[in-house]
Amino acid sequence: MIFKQLFDQKSSTYTYLIASSKGREALIIDPVLENVKDYIILLKKLDLRLVKVIDTHIHADHVTGASKLKDITKCSTIMGDHTPADAVEIKVKDDEYINLENLKIKAMYTPGHTSDSYSFLMDNYLFSGDTLLINGTGRTDFQNGDSKDAYNSIFNKLLKLPDETFLYPAHDYKGEKVSTIGKEKKQNPRLQVSSVDEYVELMNNLNLKKPTEIDFNVAKNINLGA
Ligand code: FE
Repeated sequence: MIFKQLFDQKSSTYTYLIASSKGREALIIDPVLENVKDYIILLKKLDLRLVKVIDTHIHADHVTGASKLKDITKCSTIMGDHTPADAVEIKVKDDEYINLENLKIKAMYTPGHTSDSYSFLMDNYLFSGDTLLINGTGRTDFQNGDSKDAYNSIFNKLLKLPDETFLYPAHDYKGEKVSTIGKEKKQNPRLQVSSVDEYVELMNNLNLKKPTEIDFNVAKNINLGA
């Protein structure tokens, strides 16, 4: 399998490129508009044909490259069916599979960070978007975020996956690249709560700043960055 974890410096976003092998079909998760040229170069270098692009949710901190990638490669755009983005061509449901030749990726509805957040599971690779981060969790204070929903998505869905599942989030601000479900259960400070109420209390008292370009980014992302 070809698996590349790409990093956007400005927004600390991780983008993932997946394909079975050279010369085959490829899929990209959470592309960043400014980096589309780099993705195209990488796809050419690996002789890959981009067929699908997934956004885990409507991002607030960067503009998605989905629409631009579609223009260039004719790939299909995919999001979970709770997305407010009408332009999305394939809206997947909870538990639905996305096929990439012999690879299968399961969509998991994991609302809380936003009401449209999905995570994607390929074998033991979990792409958690901003639902579960390394040593953190996605904030729940905008875009219909809800910390009760987030608790449910994290504790009753993602943390039920086997401990050895690799965790690949959409962001990291401290240079961490990968973790596992087992590690996060033990070490993630946000997960050391004993009830949903305790989690809600924790999330309600984070006092985070509003992301600087959220209004612009969300407006662009509703149109997949076009
Ligand atoms: Fe986000």
